[in-house]
Amino acid sequence: MRSLWILLVVLLGISSAQYENRLLVGFQETQAIYPDGGTTTPFGPAQLIAQALGLGYLETSSRVYLSLGSMVAVFYITEDGNRAASVGAAYRSQGSVWVPVRQLAANLDLLYRNDYGASVLALKPAQLISIKRVVVGGAERYVLSFDRDVQVRFVSGNPPRLALIGVTQTPTPPDSTLSFNQTDWGSELLLPPGTDPPRLFFLPRQVIVQRGSSGHPPVVVLDAGHGGDDTGVIVGKLAEKDLTLSVVQRLQRLLQARGLEVVLTRSSDKAVPLLARAQYASSAQVFLSVHAAAGNQTHIYSYPEVQTLRLLEKGRELFSKTPDNQKQILERYVAAPGSAARFAQGVSQALAGVAIASVVSQDAMYVLSQAGGAAVMVEMGFESLRSTQGRAQAASALAKAVFSYLGLPEAQPASPTKPGGVKP
Ligand SMILES: [Zn+2]
Repeated sequence: MRSLWILLVVLLGISSAQYENRLLVGFQETQAIYPDGGTTTPFGPAQLIAQALGLGYLETSSRVYLSLGSMVAVFYITEDGNRAASVGAAYRSQGSVWVPVRQLAANLDLLYRNDYGASVLALKPAQLISIKRVVVGGAERYVLSFDRDVQVRFVSGNPPRLALIGVTQTPTPPDSTLSFNQTDWGSELLLPPGTDPPRLFFLPRQVIVQRGSSGHPPVVVLDAGHGGDDTGVIVGKLAEKDLTLSVVQRLQRLLQARGLEVVLTRSSDKAVPLLARAQYASSAQVFLSVHAAAGNQTHIYSYPEVQTLRLLEKGRELFSKTPDNQKQILERYVAAPGSAARFAQGVSQALAGVAIASVVSQDAMYVLSQAGGAAVMVEMGFESLRSTQGRAQAASALAKAVFSYLGLPEAQPASPTKPGGVKP
């Protein structure tokens, strides 16, 4: 299958060789731009690259992050093309963020070369060297060791399937409960049936897949956006980092009062590196990141698995001659309703209950992409968080969404000032 994949890239390269500045990213064709007007420093569209290669993606107002397994490439964003090209920053232009392709390839160890007059950016084929099963308490772990960092995605379904993107070689399964499918975009690992969705932990050249409960109540990770020197947005005298912490701490009390295990990525005014947030996220059954933005509008971002597998959608177009069984698999990916999307919808409904209108988007976010369970980022309108009452209202709406997602019965109105810890 690897040969077909490379063949397709090559064929695409030949078929449209007349266009200049062509950039082939995996199966997708796009254009490179040269922000400094030269010809030596090609930039490619960051979001498209992430989607085409299945990379983790996060874009903030000042930075863009692309990740592959445990590796992260970070670029500052500038609107000055000459500067972007000279210092290797990302370039914001025409509503898109562009990243220097060669540098991205170096940072994430991607394949980059010039073929038939087009630049080609692709995942290097990876090998799954071993897969070991370890039982820790009530939890079951699979330790996947690769020869390089790879992206692994959980694809909804029972038995659960994991997409090992770009993985062209797999070992003999250690026992009959595991099996592999080779696909045109990599490999698929089928785990034994089980109701608990797996959580993924990314380490260098290793991905740990954990299933089964360790006997704890659901872990809810609350992420108060920003902190420390990173103030977030400032409106008047209010800083985003303070508002988010206030909402998150209220929410924590409400959730703990129902006996839920709650972890905060920060509980004081300190900076938390993105990777640390991501590590927290990967242990969560529910991950809720709270931000605020100027104005009235509240945005909710979720991370449906199907979006990250955009390459599969693309694959469907390209592989019109694919055997039927493979087409069915692609259909399932595209149609699978993600748990994150369901949680995002719940958050939106709960906020509507306290008259906060929100927009639900399906943007890929780096922190969210590392989450094992349902992960949602809420960017509240500043205006709804100005007053103490507004923040309490937002917290109780978010708590309602978490309870509803976890299937807990509707809570009695709880006092946010009363610390809990008592199981219902
Ligand atoms: Zn923010």
